[in-house]
Parts: sequence; structure tokens; C-alpha cells
Amino acid sequence: MTLLTLLPIAWLALAAGLLFAWRGSLLALWREPVFKTPILIVESDDWGAGPPVQAEALAAIDACLERHCDATGRPAVMTLALILATPKPGMVGFETLMDASQRATLTAIRSGRERGVFALQLHGMLHFWPDTLRAAALDRAEVRAWLAAPELTERLPSHLQSRWTDASTLPSRPHARERVEAAVAEEVALYAEVFAAPPEVVVPPTFVWTREVEAAWAARGVRVVITPGHRLTCRDASGDPACQDKNLRNGEHGEGEALYLVRDEYFEPLLGQRPERALEALARKTRLGRPCLLETHRGNFLAAAGGDLDGALAALDTLYTIALRSFPTLRFASCAELGRAIRSGDALWIERNKRARFTIWLRRVALLPRFGKAARMAGLLPLLNLFARCHS
Ligand SMILES: [Zn+2]
Repeated sequence: MTLLTLLPIAWLALAAGLLFAWRGSLLALWREPVFKTPILIVESDDWGAGPPVQAEALAAIDACLERHCDATGRPAVMTLALILATPKPGMVGFETLMDASQRATLTAIRSGRERGVFALQLHGMLHFWPDTLRAAALDRAEVRAWLAAPELTERLPSHLQSRWTDASTLPSRPHARERVEAAVAEEVALYAEVFAAPPEVVVPPTFVWTREVEAAWAARGVRVVITPGHRLTCRDASGDPACQDKNLRNGEHGEGEALYLVRDEYFEPLLGQRPERALEALARKTRLGRPCLLETHRGNFLAAAGGDLDGALAALDTLYTIALRSFPTLRFASCAELGRAIRSGDALWIERNKRARFTIWLRRVALLPRFGKAARMAGLLPLLNLFARCHS
């Protein structure tokens, strides 16, 4: 056998080896839905039961969203991840969104939902696990002080803001399954009572949750779980989210009928993140056929939490103005709608053309850690790109 015949055989073996070694990720990227148009969703967490000043901020956000419409005439949509209850001083009981003290906030939320600028998602009954907080208060003065006058959960130590793991001591431990199921049943029932329908989308607080929690949500009708691209199930000895048990992609199936969406881009003006950063994320996601879900928090809009309402609104306004100018086919949507579009393969949203999907898949696989570099160096990716161009 001559060198000229050996070389192609060796190259084919190398290419086949690369494809085989990464087959799981390559197939997962092929199965991941490709969205046809740029999609921008600002996801704002932590609203709901709490200080009444939220009502004023929500009304101002509502007015800002309504000023920006996509090519179909639809106004910008902000998803609100909602907390349903807030503790009374000393945690001697709780006030829920149904209580008179929360009426202004609830009215602002419902008003925005009716006009299509707010899409509601469940964040949790509370942004913590009550018994965890009680236990932590025994030896932490700042937790005792917070419990005496609870207002903004953002002020709690980060690990104590996780609801679905017992972080009273670190590393955290799982809750008993029956307690998880009872807590999920309670929060889903209250959400349904407040908003006349059970939640379709959940955002796990601090993105720490378990398979058991997810199964309990799914059993009660939740269809979409917002994730950072993986599932973390505990807090480690330092209090950081840990115990990853799963990598997740858009459209992958979770427990029951639930599917995942990935939110791993950020828009937090309070942390100095400018609209330009979010616009770069939108461009990047669009190129990969993915929706751009931007994480933000109510704290950006509340002075009591260190935010600046006017500054955050100006940043939001700039974000939508430039996004609509730079992406004429930009669409606004809720995560619930994206979930339904993925499920049904809705041709209005989801690309079905195999050539178009192949082009996007090539862009995605080029970013796979190690595979992208190896496939480029071996000449496999350039060859596949050439093939895609010749057939487009
Ligand atoms: Zn939160």
C-alpha cells in the first residue's frame, strides 16, 4: 500500500474516531431545536410578595416594554419569576399575594400580563426553606436580624436563598421527598389560585433543584423548567451551588412532560452590565439558532435593593431600541410559548429545513470544547463547512 492510499485511510479513521468519541454531544446538538428568528426574552426574577414599592417599578417597566414592538406588532415581553409569599416579622406566619398588603404589586403584575408585556413563571412559594432559615438563625446573628424584619430575600446569605436543599449546615443535605412533594403541591395550588391557572414555567430559586422537585412540578402540570444549562442539586462546604447531576440543552426532556430551556446570558445593570453585552449575547445566540434568554433581577429596579429604577429603565430601553434596529426579524415571546413551539415543532418558530439545520449544527459543534479544535485541526470541520456551502 502506498503512502497516497494510506493517508486518506488514516484521515478517514481519524475523522471517524472524532465523530465516534463525541457522538453523544454531536447528536444532542443535532436534536436541539433550531429557532428561525432572533428571539429576545428578558427574564426578571424575584418579584411578587414583598415590599409594595415593587408596584411602582413594575408599572414603569410595563410602560417601557409597551413602547417596543417587534415586526409582528407584539410588545416586548418580560417574564416575571414570582415569589408567592413573604414572612411576617419573626416568621410567625406569612403574607401571600392574595393578602391586602400585596394588592398593589399583584394588580401591577396582572395588569402587565393582561396587556401581554409580562409573562408569569413560578419561582417559589418562598425564596428559601423556612426550617433551614430557622435552624440557621440559631447561630447566625444576621439571619436572626433578617427574620426580625424580613423584607428583601436578596439580603440573606446566598446559600440560604436556595429553597430545594437544606443548607442550614454546609454542605447541604436533601429534603425528605414527602416534604418536597407537599411544598410543591402547596406552591402550585397557591399560584393557581392567584393567577387562575397552574404555572406552565418554573425558575428554580438560585438554580439549585433536584430530580424529585422537578418530578413534583411536572406531576402538577409544569411544562418548562428554566435552567442555566445544567442541574445543580446542593450547596457545597463553601456554600456554592454544586452536585451537578445533568447537563441540559434547549428542548431536552426532563421529568414527566417537562422540558428544559437554557438561560445563560445576563442583563444586570446593577452589576455594571451594559446593554451592549446583552446585544452581543443576542447576536451569538441568533447565530446558533437559539433564543436569547437574559437573566435579570428585581434588585436592578428597586432602590431598597441597591438598584436604580431610572438607570435600569434607560438600559432596558436602549437594549430594546438597538435590538429591534439591529435585528429586523427579532421576535418577542414568553418561555411558555417557546416550550409549546418546541413540543409541536411549530414551523413558524422552528427550522425544519435540514440544510439550514446542518449549517447551524456546524456552528454549534465548532464550539464544543476540545472537539471543535480537534475537528478544525484535522480538517474535518473545514470540509463539512465546504460541503454545507456547496449545498446551500
Ligand atoms: Zn431568585
